[in-house]
Amino acid sequence: MAPEVSRPTATTSTDPDVRRDIVDTVRRFVANEVAPVATALEHEDTYPADIVAQMRGLGLFGVTIPEEYGGLGLDLLTYIGVIEELAFGWMSLTGVVNTHTMAATLIMTHGSDDQKRRWLPTMATGTRRGALSLSEPDAGSDTRNISCTAVRDGDEYVVNGTKAWVTNGERAGIVALAARTEEGISAFIVEKEPGPHFEGISTGKHVGKLGYRGVETVETVEMSYTDHRLPAANLIGEAGRGLPLILGVLEVGRINIAARAVGVARAAFEAALAYARQRETFGRPIGEHQAIQLKLADMATHLEAARLLTRNAAERKAAGLRCDVEAGMAKLFASETALELATESMRIHGGIGYTVDLPVERYYRDAPLMVIGEGTNEIQRLVIARGLLARGRDTD
Ligand SMILES: Cc1cc2nc3c(=O)[nH]c(=O)nc-3n(C[C@H](O)[C@H](O)[C@H](O)COP(=O)(O)OP(=O)(O)OC[C@H]3O[C@@H](n4cnc5c(N)ncnc54)[C@H](O)[C@@H]3O)c2cc1C
Repeated sequence: MAPEVSRPTATTSTDPDVRRDIVDTVRRFVANEVAPVATALEHEDTYPADIVAQMRGLGLFGVTIPEEYGGLGLDLLTYIGVIEELAFGWMSLTGVVNTHTMAATLIMTHGSDDQKRRWLPTMATGTRRGALSLSEPDAGSDTRNISCTAVRDGDEYVVNGTKAWVTNGERAGIVALAARTEEGISAFIVEKEPGPHFEGISTGKHVGKLGYRGVETVETVEMSYTDHRLPAANLIGEAGRGLPLILGVLEVGRINIAARAVGVARAAFEAALAYARQRETFGRPIGEHQAIQLKLADMATHLEAARLLTRNAAERKAAGLRCDVEAGMAKLFASETALELATESMRIHGGIGYTVDLPVERYYRDAPLMVIGEGTNEIQRLVIARGLLARGRDTD
């Protein structure tokens, strides 16, 4: 069955007052509900069911999904504001909504009207969680190397293969899947019941990680397909044309990673600033030592630049402008900034920064993920350079 023609799902620009209200609401939620428990839950590696339920209540699973499908219908700038606040409190929480939003974006941008009606309403409320499954054990940076196959059989496709690193994989009810069909790489929506087994799908190996714990340890999984049957109506766009669609969605993912990185960098900076005011050595606050002042000045400058790059990329994406270079720059700079600020914050804290008594050690463990996820920063530089060279040719 061929998918019906897609009607674009437009998200109009959000009123700045509405945007501020939403972001302020999330900031208060993080201060009241997340900050007091984040460190303990993260150390215990406990899934924060109450917090996720409250996020659902706030509508955070449908921030960019249009109101006609039950979402909040807000723009990407509002979304990155929300992500920065969540990451400021606990970066793991952003993982719950990120690949979910990417899967929803794939459907919103490239799904048929029927597909949008089928999947977006339950995603908007968070009743059904989404995941995005591109990577494989032998295909991370090299996305063209994926070997998971989907073979057409009448009105169905039969899927076989193993995907790696599926964030939200076990709890997801919707998985945006990249698989190889005879025409090339295609994009599909897989519907499943949450849990480790569903028909031909099983989630294996739960990945233990340096940081990004609590929410994710039970949720970054390997996912195997054995003769799993999908309706052909679950194909997104044309067969063989799926990779560019998913890579386009990864631009939203990169802007999201940049916003996460800004949140972690801000948390690290604010902790360092507060400590520099309070901790005294040689008879005065360490913030009065010039060596510490130089660090604080560099940290604040890099943080501000990261936030502006992230906002610029989100504005371009929301306006429908080309933003491969801008999303890559935002992701690259913001994630390196998070890593740098987490390290500097720990150094400014001295010995206590190395203990588990303060959240600084968590920022230090969480920051490296942003350098790797959604395309490593080495790949990001290649994306930026290729985009610049192509724009030169296209006089774009
Ligand atoms: C916690 C976590 C969650 C994740 N969640 C998801 C998810 O939900 N969905 C999903 O699809 N994926 C997910 N990923 C996978 C992630 O996108 C990949 O790990 C990432 O793209 C890197 O791929 P790789 O691990 O195979 O590294 P490799 O591709 O093997 O790279 C190894 C090293 O070689 C470098 N390298 C590779 N090729 C080049 C090149 N051409 N030029 C220069 N340097 C190069 C890389 O930068 C890196 O330093 C997740 C990863 C993690 C760690």
